Amino acid sequence: MSFQVEGKVAVVTGGSSGIGLAAVEILVAEGAKVAWCGRDEQRLAESKLYILEKYPHANVFTQSCNVLNQAEVDTFAQAVTQHLGNVDMLINNAGQGRVSNFDNTQDEDWMKEIELKYFSVLHPIRAFLDNLKVSAIGSVTNVNSLLALQPEPHMIATSAARAALLNLTHSLSHEFMQYGIRVNSILLGMVESAQWKRRYENRSDLNQSWEEWIGNIAKKRGIPMQRLGKPDEPAHALVFLASPLASYTTGTALDVSGGFNKHI
Ligand code: NDP
Repeated sequence: MSFQVEGKVAVVTGGSSGIGLAAVEILVAEGAKVAWCGRDEQRLAESKLYILEKYPHANVFTQSCNVLNQAEVDTFAQAVTQHLGNVDMLINNAGQGRVSNFDNTQDEDWMKEIELKYFSVLHPIRAFLDNLKVSAIGSVTNVNSLLALQPEPHMIATSAARAALLNLTHSLSHEFMQYGIRVNSILLGMVESAQWKRRYENRSDLNQSWEEWIGNIAKKRGIPMQRLGKPDEPAHALVFLASPLASYTTGTALDVSGGFNKHI
């Protein structure tokens, strides 16, 4: 069964790496026109090259953009519609987590975390809302974390900000029903990506290979599936929720955590 997104226009924020890039690839493979952004020009150019080498006929657009800057997001949005047409699906994926507990989280860190989790979603929604309103299949899909429901003391600020994003996503799903726009999110456990590669670079035991290191994390954390997720696993969930296949689903949060969720 296809995702029914052929010829539709999708935007993926933070599409230059990890889960975002995996979502871009699935959408392109399904025949969607896809735009994505990231801040780092080189990473963005490399991701575009990767996609076009695999899918030479893909209709894609990339532009460097910091989602925390509304003016940059507006410029990106204008360029996207000029190049690809009216946007049907917005996937808010850009971001990262903060590892810190109460003791070593300063006011500035709290503010940064709240800014990232709120505005990485609010700015793109503002910029693309008029497009989504006139789309026949308009959808917003936010990447969120299981931390929203299952906080971890060593990620105190991220957990609290993720809970707020879950709440915000639900409110938006109700407000946007009048426009026919569905709003959903996914709740991630731990997924192999550039974030984890960066943490691996700073590992204490330099003799550990990547496989050993992530295998140990899965074991230590007690992930029931005994492994971290691969980027295409949450990406498939994202594309499903963004697509018309999920046409009767809004205001929901889909767990993609390898069974790490402890709530009913
Ligand atoms: P990656 O680091 O591989 O990808 C993050 C992407 O977001 C990159 O393309 C990055 O590009 C972009 N990005 C980050 N900040 C901004 C910004 N301000 N403006 C525009 N683009 C930005 O990480 P993941 O694939 O793991 O992360 C994807 C999402 O999943 C994030 O929101 C993350 O918090 C969330 N998540 C991931 C988990 C995991 O275990 N991997 C767990 C829970 C949540 P650039 O740096 O060039 O801007």
